Amino acid sequence: AAEEEAWVTLATNDTYALGALVLAHSIRSAGTSRRLVALVTPGVTMAMRDQLSGTFDLVQMVNVLDSGDTANLALLTRPDLGVTFTKLHCWRLTQFSKCVFLDADTLMLHPCDELFDREELSAAPDAGWPDCFNSGVFVFRPSLETYQKLLTFAVSHGSFDDWATKDISRHLPFIYNMCSTATYSYLPAYKKFGETVRIVHFIGATKPWLQPFDSETRKVRVSADQEHQRMLLQIWWDIFCYHVHPHLS
Ligand code: UDP
Ligand code: MN
Repeated sequence: AAEEEAWVTLATNDTYALGALVLAHSIRSAGTSRRLVALVTPGVTMAMRDQLSGTFDLVQMVNVLDSGDTANLALLTRPDLGVTFTKLHCWRLTQFSKCVFLDADTLMLHPCDELFDREELSAAPDAGWPDCFNSGVFVFRPSLETYQKLLTFAVSHGSFDDWATKDISRHLPFIYNMCSTATYSYLPAYKKFGETVRIVHFIGATKPWLQPFDSETRKVRVSADQEHQRMLLQIWWDIFCYHVHPHLS
């Protein structure tokens, strides 16, 4: 049932929380029958958690410093796993039967509820290394057992798996996690498929909220080498101005 399925994102600080707010509004505007969940750590202020509660159906605190937690022990031996590790908390949302995780730096442009027909673990290829999946968008089934297994696996093996070779039905089309820089690197493909892009991912350094913005004209400023990303960055800022900024105190 739709109420047992959810979109899930993560923020460990107020900056990423702004991304999460814009993402949530983009999902609502695109249209969905599923719930919206934000995982937050204590690094997100109370004021921002209130903001998130106004937009998400559930704001779930995940405490990375929970002592006695096997998760925490694992983290101590592999501090490099930081945020990756925090993402794994999404498998603990066992009140839901199926979820889709979205990075806080993603934006939904068209309805994507059909992703809930996919199985765990479905994800799109990484634009930089297509034999790996990109963890910015993935379909999963919450389960404490899986959570423990992933944790153990991540600590001992790093984050690689057999996604590339196991089952092609677990490969999501690139339009569900289009790296925003692909608009430049793969211009002919972007011209052909750009209209069909459903979720864009502002991977790497060009985070929309770090972009200079003119509050008078309400236009994002981009450098010459970011020109191709202007339209997508402007969509992010339009949602921010219209849905998010008016409610921030
Ligand atoms: N994240 C966060 N705080 C951080 C870094 C990352 O909350 O300081 C979360 C956020 O949901 C983010 C995701 O982890 O979208 C992955 O990080 P990021 O998107 O920065 O990595 P990239 O997609 O650029 O590789
Ligand atoms: Mn990301």
